[in-house]
Amino acid sequence: MLDALRTEASTCTRCRLSQTRTQVVFGNGHPNADLVFVGEAPGFHEDQQGIPFVGQAGKLLDKLLAGIGLSRADVYVANTLKCRPPGNRDPMPEEKHECEPWLFRQIELIRPKVIATLGNHATKQLTGKETGITRIHGQPQQVTYGSMQVTIFPLYHPAAALYTPAMLKVLEEDFARLPALLDEEIEPVPSLADLVAEPEPEPAAVQLGLF
Ligand code: URA
Repeated sequence: MLDALRTEASTCTRCRLSQTRTQVVFGNGHPNADLVFVGEAPGFHEDQQGIPFVGQAGKLLDKLLAGIGLSRADVYVANTLKCRPPGNRDPMPEEKHECEPWLFRQIELIRPKVIATLGNHATKQLTGKETGITRIHGQPQQVTYGSMQVTIFPLYHPAAALYTPAMLKVLEEDFARLPALLDEEIEPVPSLADLVAEPEPEPAAVQLGLF
């Protein structure tokens, strides 16, 4: 099923990145992984090889995975954009919009327990919220996609952590919590939208006034 989707995506022309890419970088790993990583977009090496996270950031991702006893074969790795933006510029809103159905169809087929979003782009897209990664990293969020409940676990992007030792330390600490999250030993918080929807408790004075 995932292979059929990969074949379909390989000729995608939904946005202008199809004119400059070498190839579509669909994603790779275990087709029924409990843990999916979603990064930003393919870079030079990914565009050349057709595999996500094969450059320096990917080497760090591999190292972090090994630290929790996992390898790339145990997880699935994809990006918000399937094609490289020229010069590795930021994804544009219309590119993300056009590419989004591929990612959601991938997630629907894999049905992971946890999606670790790497950096701001993936985190905002998959939580549907504007809260930035600095505020939200390491805080598991419960989200519902159609009939599926999944935990989003926002992490700093490995490419950013490569050059900032303090960020790398935080990324390592957050990463170390993934096994417990996968074993459901850590409860994700309901998403911010759910919190807002919850009725405020009555202040004590008002409750007393009812009697
Ligand atoms: N490589 C990827 O595949 N995605 C990123 O977000 C960065 C590097």
